[in-house]
Amino acid sequence: MAAEAENVPIPSSCHCGAIKVTVPRLPQYTNYCQCTICRRYGVAWAYYHPDEVKIETKPDAITRQYIWGDRTASFNFCDNCGCMCYWWPLGPRPTDGEEYMMGVNTNNMDPEVLKYVDRKFSYSYVKVPMKAKDATHPEDLATYEH
Ligand SMILES: [Zn+2]
Repeated sequence: MAAEAENVPIPSSCHCGAIKVTVPRLPQYTNYCQCTICRRYGVAWAYYHPDEVKIETKPDAITRQYIWGDRTASFNFCDNCGCMCYWWPLGPRPTDGEEYMMGVNTNNMDPEVLKYVDRKFSYSYVKVPMKAKDATHPEDLATYEH
């Protein structure tokens, strides 16, 4: 695909259109994350720096959040139609060159636009050490930090 085409903003929205999320360019890949929460949502994430992503909501829109486990991210979905729209990093924003990103659900985009984007299935998060032992899902394979 031509380089200029990759830098065209890509819109997405939940089913009822209350929440719109626009990313600045095509993702390198989409991730069908297989952690205990993402596989239930059936999402395909693309990752961007939060400053690059435009989130617009209709005046009467309600964005619901689900926060669990280590509380490192909120999962944001539409209260009206239930579609998962994005996850947002919680806690302090890193000041140095540390990675800082959010996930946008590419299943809310036009599938035609994503036709040639690589699709990955990530299992790594299932085994990432967690700190919040009490709040995890029973199926989670994570090991716990003490
Ligand atoms: Zn909606």
